[in-house]
Amino acid sequence: MEEILFLDPVFKHNIWGGSKLRDDFGYQIDGEDIGECWGIAAHENGDCHIKNGKYAGQKLSQLWKEHQELFGNVGGDKFPLLIKIIDAKDDLSIQVHPDDAYAKLNEGGSLGKTECWYVIDCPRDASLVIGHNASSKSELAQMIEDKDWKGLIRQIPVHKGDFIQINPGTVHAIKAGFLILETQQNSDVTYRLYDYDRLSNGKPRELHIDKSIDVINAPAISAKDSVIDASDFNSLANQLKPLYECEYYKVFKMEVQGKNKFKNDYPFMLFSVLEGQGQINGRDIKKGDHFIIPSGVEMIEIEGYVEAIASTV
Ligand code: ZN
Repeated sequence: MEEILFLDPVFKHNIWGGSKLRDDFGYQIDGEDIGECWGIAAHENGDCHIKNGKYAGQKLSQLWKEHQELFGNVGGDKFPLLIKIIDAKDDLSIQVHPDDAYAKLNEGGSLGKTECWYVIDCPRDASLVIGHNASSKSELAQMIEDKDWKGLIRQIPVHKGDFIQINPGTVHAIKAGFLILETQQNSDVTYRLYDYDRLSNGKPRELHIDKSIDVINAPAISAKDSVIDASDFNSLANQLKPLYECEYYKVFKMEVQGKNKFKNDYPFMLFSVLEGQGQINGRDIKKGDHFIIPSGVEMIEIEGYVEAIASTV
């Protein structure tokens, strides 16, 4: 019988980062510029170590290579997903990601990037940059050439508990005050379209205008279809509530008050605890924990008060 695998997160300091990952999530990390907690990651820029059991101290990338059976033998040379918590004290640059085909051709065989966000917290009346207002590719290129950023960039109202899918080709940016759980393909390929004309060490950061124009979808999908309200749980307490499914991942929200017992129907499941505490199969869990339920664990019993985002392939 396999054990649940707990992970030691990797932290990133960013000019736009804050201190909520320490002050709110309790991670022991110094600095006022902590932008990202890579909770479940097997990437060359961040590779989590296993905390417990017979694999303690091993890197997730190594476990993926040497113990495919833990992951249901789904195949592939890279661990497929990357789970982050992001704390933005300042606006992030406006960016877009390529799909697999474009990244393979133009980024040395890298994967593209599809990502999604669950809004853990944000200010009242907040908005995010999702999509743009150009009606065609040629209008998009013209607006970019004219530096008509105000006209081009689309801001959509977003609330705590919302879920947002960011397909490749979608212009997007996290804004100041947002705390977000990101589930994404295991890739880091990002094209920066606009950085609010800010300077970093006296210079503007590099933009990738041509590649951005190449990959941005025009027109963008409607504002109404861009945000899913995931806050209603009345009918689905103590169950895995499916939030979204695409070719790269399935994402669920789970809110347990009392007990939830379920069968692991997937090759493996990734969990990040966002609120509360309790036990999973008799082991203590609390806010900020990230763990993997491997293939050999068939029944899962969670007790206590626990709010989590889960995902699988
Ligand atoms: Zn992104």
